[in-house]
Amino acid sequence: MFPVEQYYKADSIHSACAYLAEHPDARLIAGGTDVLIRLREGKPEFRHLVDIQSIADLQLLTIDNHGRITIGAGVTVTRLIRFLERHKVCKSLVEGASSLGGPQVRNMATVGGNICNGAPSADSAAPLLTFNATLTVQSQQTTRVVPIESFYQGPGRVDLKPGELVTAITIDAGQYRNTGSHFYKYAMRKAMDIATIGCSATCELETSCELETSQRIKALRIAYTVAAPVPKRCRTAEKLAEHRIADQTLVEDIVGVVLEDLSPRNSWRAAKDFREHIIRTLARRVVTEAIVRAGGQL
Ligand SMILES: Cc1cc2nc3c(=O)[nH]c(=O)nc-3n(C[C@H](O)[C@H](O)[C@H](O)COP(=O)(O)OP(=O)(O)OC[C@H]3O[C@@H](n4cnc5c(N)ncnc54)[C@H](O)[C@@H]3O)c2cc1C
Repeated sequence: MFPVEQYYKADSIHSACAYLAEHPDARLIAGGTDVLIRLREGKPEFRHLVDIQSIADLQLLTIDNHGRITIGAGVTVTRLIRFLERHKVCKSLVEGASSLGGPQVRNMATVGGNICNGAPSADSAAPLLTFNATLTVQSQQTTRVVPIESFYQGPGRVDLKPGELVTAITIDAGQYRNTGSHFYKYAMRKAMDIATIGCSATCELETSCELETSQRIKALRIAYTVAAPVPKRCRTAEKLAEHRIADQTLVEDIVGVVLEDLSPRNSWRAAKDFREHIIRTLARRVVTEAIVRAGGQL
């Protein structure tokens, strides 16, 4: 038995927001794959729950006429994978989502829960960062749109005020069309393990008839998990890559600077210097694959 003291099942975003406004001590539960573990551990903050799992508006999963992808916060990881595969888009996000837990966990876990728990290891976070995803945050009074990068504020801390919930995650067409992307999770086991380091890259090449410029980088975005207190973009490496020819020299230059925006730490899972080694190794591997998937030749 879980020590739940109060439980409210919301049937709309409006009713969830209204309940949260009236009961500031209540916490949201979506798939429950994190919340139930915390409850079992005896964490008192999850004893008063608002269940948002059956809210239809949180189940939205669409690509509109402009190519904008909207992922309702309550969409399960399994559903997201199938949807993106069917539309053949955002390969790195498919790879990130597919590495989350095992099939049973992915069937219950929601994309919103994966982001809102604030875990530095969240497997959907690095791909979403490299697609410049935005989050729609709603309360009883207001709706605001927050870039995923600024949503993360510290380990387990996200930009959610009391009474707010995330309703959707959005990726604009310009962020994923004509790109190649790749995500790789390094973990101690091949399945059902939290990342030691995760790395994602999204690459767009300049298009030109001239041979010399056809391999130049238009945009390269790189992000890591478990390499800093929050999932993090590598702005220095990204800036260095702008308009450079996409070749081995560029990849090695990226490997050389990738740690500048990161601060991996020692933990029981891995030592800091081992993590630094994995970060550099993954930069080489993941950036190379993203360039190749974008149509580059390396
Ligand atoms: C066995 C096991 C293996 C796992 N492996 C991985 C893994 O490999 N990679 C990984 O990234 N994670 C892993 N997880 C963690 C977890 O499954 C994911 O983070 C999952 O996506 C959480 O989603 P959920 O819907 O279950 O969240 P819940 O447990 O329902 O909620 C998680 C947190 O987010 C908040 N929340 C949920 N939805 C919203 C919303 N819409 N708006 C605001 N706040 C919200 C809740 O209040 C809570 O604080 C694992 C968990 C288990 C049990």
